[in-house]
Amino acid sequence: MKPWENNIRKIKPYTPGEQPGVKDIVKLNTNENPFPPAPGVMKALKGMDPDSLRRYPDPSIRLLTAELARFYKLEEDMVFAGVGSDDVLAMAFLAFFNSDKPILFPDISYSFYPVWCDLFHIPYETPPLDENFKINRKDYYKENGGVVIANPNAPTGICEDLSFIEDILSHNKDCIVIIDEAYIDFSGKDSAVGLIHKYDNLIVVQTFSKARSMAGMRIGYAMGNPVLIKALNDVKYSINSYTMNSTAIIAGVEAVRDAEYCRNAIEKIIKERARSEEQFKQLGFTFTESGSNFLFVTHRTLPASEIFNALRENNIYVRYFNAPRIDNYLRVSIGKPEDMDKLFAFLKEYIESRNA
Ligand SMILES: *Cc1c(COP(=O)(O)O)cnc(C)c1O
Repeated sequence: MKPWENNIRKIKPYTPGEQPGVKDIVKLNTNENPFPPAPGVMKALKGMDPDSLRRYPDPSIRLLTAELARFYKLEEDMVFAGVGSDDVLAMAFLAFFNSDKPILFPDISYSFYPVWCDLFHIPYETPPLDENFKINRKDYYKENGGVVIANPNAPTGICEDLSFIEDILSHNKDCIVIIDEAYIDFSGKDSAVGLIHKYDNLIVVQTFSKARSMAGMRIGYAMGNPVLIKALNDVKYSINSYTMNSTAIIAGVEAVRDAEYCRNAIEKIIKERARSEEQFKQLGFTFTESGSNFLFVTHRTLPASEIFNALRENNIYVRYFNAPRIDNYLRVSIGKPEDMDKLFAFLKEYIESRNA
């Protein structure tokens, strides 16, 4: 080993879902929205003057944060925007978790959380979910350096009621609590945004990647009281003042304005989720109750890893996590009906051939 290699940061990075370059695949592995972004987004992109790219974007991202503030009935200084919620969450970990006490998040949750802890040297503990993959709220009553809860949780899809989230908040008034609501719009349950005025230590993080069909544009945002938003901005301006590009800002504003279109796409996905649940049941799968745009399924007899490989060989991509307790599950994004039909047609044939 060369001496300088000692100075290289050692980190085991997050593994994103595959983005295969080939067409004609059924892609149900990264919880993307199968429907296009709102018409206003398309129009804004087509109408963009490339000459405007000479200029730096507005570092305060005010057009977008103001639009989001209007939508969620907040003050403008209660919204922070960034390059996807991954970017926003990373800055939140950096800004808010500076205690010697460990932060807490479930053992099964978004697998990026432990990566940021390692990267930023944040101590953490991961209280285990119960045998039904539910959070035991009492695990979060003890002293800690912060709390992170994905609601709905990933990759289980389970969504807790707002009263459950408020119970955790009421037991954690001395630390910052992050609620990661990447999938909340698919749950039919209330967002924790409504609790921001009551709990000044609450940060709610959401994204344009799932419900708003804009994963490729990379837009995420955090909402919370102005002291927390300022802290996030202080970190941002200490790394890169111009995080969000001009195109993303314009497109993002249009997506927020066309909430009706977005609502419609969400309804279609929820309907397709219900139909998919029936299909999975008939094929011998069981699954957790999903408040998201994916189902977390396991088969009664066939190992998940084998099904995963068979699907992949046939150009059907789902997500498999080779991790303790969840390595016999598949996370399947809800796609268009025709994509789901291809999945179920393959599974039916595969399962019959395996049982023959
Ligand atoms: C998808 C996802 C994110 C990240 O989304 P971005 O594309 O970075 O906005 C954050 N948290 C959870 C739980 C997710 O599933």
